Amino acid sequence: LTRNPGETEFHQAARELLDSLDSVVARHPEYAEAAIIRRVCEPERQIIFRVPWVDDAGQVHLNRGFRVEFNSALGPYKGGLRFHPSVYLGIVKFLGFEQIFKNALTGMPIGGGKGGSDFDPKGRSDAEIMRFCQSFMTELYRHIGEYTDVPAGDIGVGGREIGYLFGQYKRITNRYESGVLTGKGIGWGGSLARTEATGYGTAYFANEMLKARNSSFEGKTVVVSGSGNVAIYAAEKATALGATVVACSDSSGYLVDEKGIDLDLLKDVKEVRRARISAYVDERSGSARLVTGGSVWDVPCDIALPCATQNELDATHALTLVRNGCTVVAEGANMPCTPEAVKVFTDAGVAFAPGKAANAGGVATSALEMQQNASRDSWSFDYTEERLRNIMVDIHDRCLVTAEEYGAPGNYITGANIAGFTQVADAMLALGVI
Ligand code: NDP
Repeated sequence: LTRNPGETEFHQAARELLDSLDSVVARHPEYAEAAIIRRVCEPERQIIFRVPWVDDAGQVHLNRGFRVEFNSALGPYKGGLRFHPSVYLGIVKFLGFEQIFKNALTGMPIGGGKGGSDFDPKGRSDAEIMRFCQSFMTELYRHIGEYTDVPAGDIGVGGREIGYLFGQYKRITNRYESGVLTGKGIGWGGSLARTEATGYGTAYFANEMLKARNSSFEGKTVVVSGSGNVAIYAAEKATALGATVVACSDSSGYLVDEKGIDLDLLKDVKEVRRARISAYVDERSGSARLVTGGSVWDVPCDIALPCATQNELDATHALTLVRNGCTVVAEGANMPCTPEAVKVFTDAGVAFAPGKAANAGGVATSALEMQQNASRDSWSFDYTEERLRNIMVDIHDRCLVTAEEYGAPGNYITGANIAGFTQVADAMLALGVI
């Protein structure tokens, strides 16, 4: 705490991991001797930089850019860029820290990092977004590369932004280095199924949790939060697996559609028109309503998939979900449930999966995109999705096996933390004190 003052979210993420490690340290004295825990909590490198840009009216703006290169024991740093006004070092570090263990869980050769800016893309024109991305990359380019650090998207950074960032990287370096960024467009080095991967992966993970309880998505009611990339595709796969997704949200409120969310309409509203969820309700006034007070977690459901942002679901929301009969919660976002909410779920016997396991499908498919770039190949949607599904099944099983091995059967938090940590710790031991 004293070493990283004010970085609240990073403290929360670190405490959540460390709480799981007592039995690991007892079983592996070599980790303590090599100061692995202290070293893993300290980023290998942190870069903070100025991002000046000019808006359409000719006015100069200034934002702050970040890239935290946290741990490269398993491979090049890998993790997204977030553009949101709330971004500061504590958020980038919590995300980068989680990313280390998430990436280890995928079984792919990737280290952990994260970056972003306090830039707010809402209401900005295409030209303004492009100028911001170009300015951001004008500093970032010297720190990244396919063997060093491979950024991707996150909140506020999708295919359009990755395009502008890649264009500027290519222009400055004079290299068509496809593997330097993931989440690229399909026509220029992107992977089929990457757009869908995080949401689909979360639904696949929840499906395994349901199977472990002799259940399935069939006939179940699902609520997702958010209405961005992760939320849309988690809803799409849950629907394909037989559930009805009745609600989603954005930062202005939530919508309930008792007939089940019309995913084509939601995609059109969010991905094409870049509009608010109110535009969805305007066109589905027969079955959908917009609610601007309260929380999306007030809507009764069997399965909750929080897919918006950190600490969006607190103990009060968790108690409401439990009271309404929710039995499975899988985090599509990073750390969306507060520690108090997680305690409510575990005390009530709700199956709960942390983001570092349940949302790992996005970064896993990014690693598949890197594989395709390295071999100058492009795989079919079905093949890539099948690999994603297998990876999510493996992560699920690894969490349960590890939890059992360390005396916490059925606890996905313990399983994910220990399985991810021990893999990174063993690699750090092998690489020496560096
Ligand atoms: P998007 O920007 O596509 O969507 C974010 C969604 O969450 C929007 O609907 C946004 O609403 C909503 N949201 C953001 N902040 C709040 C808030 N404070 N209250 C209510 N709603 C909010 O981001 P992604 O879908 O890509 O990311 C969502 C989460 O998933 C993040 O935690 C991210 O780190 C995580 N994640 C993403 C991955 C990916 O591949 N994209 C991979 C793994 C994890 P509004 O538009 O009103 O702001």
